[in-house]
Amino acid sequence: MGITIGIMALQGDVEENLNATREALRSLNIDGNAIQVKYPEHIAGVDGLIIPGGESTVIGTLAMLNGSLKVVRERISSGMPVMGTCAGMILLAKRVYDRVVGETRQQLLDILDVTVERNAFGRQIDSFEADLKIKVIGEQPFKGVFIRAPVIRETGNGVDVLARLDDSNDSSKSKNKSKIVAVQQGNIIGTSFHPELSGDTRLHEYFIRLVKEYKSR
Ligand code: GLN
Repeated sequence: MGITIGIMALQGDVEENLNATREALRSLNIDGNAIQVKYPEHIAGVDGLIIPGGESTVIGTLAMLNGSLKVVRERISSGMPVMGTCAGMILLAKRVYDRVVGETRQQLLDILDVTVERNAFGRQIDSFEADLKIKVIGEQPFKGVFIRAPVIRETGNGVDVLARLDDSNDSSKSKNKSKIVAVQQGNIIGTSFHPELSGDTRLHEYFIRLVKEYKSR
């Protein structure tokens, strides 16, 4: 039986993730499909979940109100692979702050042991692209698309750093601080950037392999 990847479809760039996932499935030649997931009862039917970029406060509030936050948290705790991109990664984090208000006190899945700074590079106008080395997808650089992006400032034990941004890519005030932009904690992947917008499906392929492995257990 094929694998089913859910894209959390409450707000954000859902369509782009559906497309990138379908393309990655094709290029891996894996039998599977990608579907939108809106309600808690849909979550039981997926083998892996992608939480897209968008606005983490909106996605978190809607997911709490419709009951999916709790169900998603339970599935992730029991081993289901999840990939959060940008706002999706914020939602996965245990600790989130921004420079203006400090701790943001928003609804979180509270499962990825990292401290995230929201909007770490400034406003929408400060969006940028940067070539990244991501150790799990090979030597070829990956074009990271950063849009009002968060950054990971601290990681707990058990969190593997997959990619960092170096200062030459960063014109903002966060120079010289640790700028982790992709991590993995077992079945959980988080990225500051939007892999679904780079036209390169290698990170989605990496995630799909985790899902396939999980499904075959
Ligand atoms: N700034 C957004 C947030 O804090 C994330 C932006 C994005 O997903 N592109 O939720």
